Amino acid sequence: MRPEPKVGGGPFRPKQDRPNDGIPRPERLSQVPQYLGQVIGGFFKRLLYITQLVWETGPWILFFLIFVSLFNGFMPVFGSLISSRVLNELQAGFGQSVDRALFLASPIFAMLIVLFSYRIINAVLDRVKSATTRIAGERVVRHIRLKIMHKARKIDLAAYDSPAFYEKLENANREAGHRPIQTLSATLGLVSTMIGLISYIVILFRAPGMWWSALVIIAVSVPSAIITFTYRHKNVRYMRWRSKERRQMDYYSGLMVNKDMVKELRLYDLSDTFIDRYDDAFERYYKGMRRLIIGEGAWHVGIALLSSVVNCVFFAMIAYRVFTGEIMIGDYSLLTGALTSIAGNVSTLISSSSTVYEGTLFIDNLMTFMDYEQTIAPRIATPLKVRHGEPHTIVFEHVSFRYPGTERDVLKDINMTLVPGESLVLVGLNGAGKTTLLKLLTRLYDPTEGRILLDGQDLRDYDVQDLYRMFGIIFQDFGKYAESAGENIHFGNIHKMAQTQELHEAAEASGAAEFIEAFPQGYATPLMRIFEQDGIELSGGQWQKLAISRAFYSDCDVLILDEPTAALDALAEQEIYNQFDRLRRGKTTIFVSHRLSSATMASKIVVLEYGRIIEEGNHRALMDRQGRYYELFSTQAKRYREDI
Ligand code: ADP
Repeated sequence: MRPEPKVGGGPFRPKQDRPNDGIPRPERLSQVPQYLGQVIGGFFKRLLYITQLVWETGPWILFFLIFVSLFNGFMPVFGSLISSRVLNELQAGFGQSVDRALFLASPIFAMLIVLFSYRIINAVLDRVKSATTRIAGERVVRHIRLKIMHKARKIDLAAYDSPAFYEKLENANREAGHRPIQTLSATLGLVSTMIGLISYIVILFRAPGMWWSALVIIAVSVPSAIITFTYRHKNVRYMRWRSKERRQMDYYSGLMVNKDMVKELRLYDLSDTFIDRYDDAFERYYKGMRRLIIGEGAWHVGIALLSSVVNCVFFAMIAYRVFTGEIMIGDYSLLTGALTSIAGNVSTLISSSSTVYEGTLFIDNLMTFMDYEQTIAPRIATPLKVRHGEPHTIVFEHVSFRYPGTERDVLKDINMTLVPGESLVLVGLNGAGKTTLLKLLTRLYDPTEGRILLDGQDLRDYDVQDLYRMFGIIFQDFGKYAESAGENIHFGNIHKMAQTQELHEAAEASGAAEFIEAFPQGYATPLMRIFEQDGIELSGGQWQKLAISRAFYSDCDVLILDEPTAALDALAEQEIYNQFDRLRRGKTTIFVSHRLSSATMASKIVVLEYGRIIEEGNHRALMDRQGRYYELFSTQAKRYREDI
């Protein structure tokens, strides 16, 4: 038997802090009006936003939904009125001798025709409505997903570091599907329900001595409304409060089916731990949720009992009037139908309003995400253009940086100049700040202090997209695309028409050509087995070679390799550096590498420690200095010698 894994504790697990539901509440009675104003104002603002989303998708969807809601409002009342008239006529004509011809010419027959025409129209429109709503739903989903994708490309990398923002992005993306159209349909459903409700109330008011029954039925529904609303609100609050647990559940269940994780999970026997952690998160989420569901259910059972008793009394009273001859059978059907419909409509009104309310609150995620203001943007109205294809000078002036939401400077007072055509190697232990320096240079983040100059101008004054095109970069966590091998290289410069010759040259230079050409479909071979049965899985080293081909293929002026050679053997690494040297044709290159043998031919080596530059110079100069670089290099060289 496997030992019981420890869940929810252990010295290394972070404490489960109490999350905040993020919904402001009034603290004093005097704040209540202002709070209500905010709630109602916010509600309409969000509703307007949803309407706008649907309008952008296609005005016809909005018009159609409005038409359907009006139709749905009037038609049931119309149907009840005809049915009652038919019954009354039948009662009036009961026992009279009529022949077939007279019956066909009678008002009853005409009304039956109208009644069935109504039913046919209703049935047809019902189908048309459901088909059109589904089609409209699909279009709205596409529209919102595209909107999110277009926005996502403009979100600063820094935003992804904030769990709160990332959570909103995840929620917005997840709920893009059904929420908006569901909320708008429910809103327009409210219009139909209101039309029906008012019409049936009018019917009851016009019947002698029945007006008060409408009021009683509505009054009986009020507690139900209060309960539904209260619990919807509690529900939303609870979901927000427990959003961390819900994300944890997604995370743990995602881990268990993640192809990249399966090896570690099996070999370290972590599956049970994560299954238990899923359950642990579920228990925390479920305990409160179950209480809410049972609480709401219990209240509704009580209210349903009360409303049934009241209905029963009214039905008996109306039936009694038929006996006394005050009203006819058709009127009985109309009035009891009106009472049932009023109760039904009030309950629909309540549940739809809460769906709308809930929907508008969730739409908040999307609104926050869409309102995000990009900071990585040019500072000046007419951004500068990069002089592509020319040599560049890059200067770091007193650059310091700390990641948003953190307290520690990861880079401190960096001063450095890269002259045209320079080959720079960044050296330093893990966490020294090498990747961060590259992220600042490529303007994925802006410095907290100081500035970076490109050809004498602040990086922040350049057109961002144009600036990005200047760099060919391979990060440690470079992209692996489930597309063909050729496309994986072509993505290095998607703006360039795919040139077979150039593509092959790039693959040749990185050494990827060798394995790609051995594939059955060559460059057209699909990679990864996510979508294609005949997709090919590459090894870590093969993926790296492919990523390097991508950098070779790009027409960049500055080539950056952030430890891209980690999964390559020493021979392949040396070969790639040699290729780079041959192919760089005066381009500036920046390498981050742990194997210092690659640094020997660099024109400049910068040694970083705890975010500061501690040494700078070429291999010879730094060796002579006998400082940190000398120490690191000698240790590695000694290890290599020992290995031999
Ligand atoms: P290197 O590339 O030299 O190994 P990095 O530049 O990746 O180092 O990281 C430098 C420091 O910055 C590390 O202490 C790391 O924990 C921190 N860091 C890296 N990325 C982030 C981030 N997104 N948010 C907060 N801290 C970060």
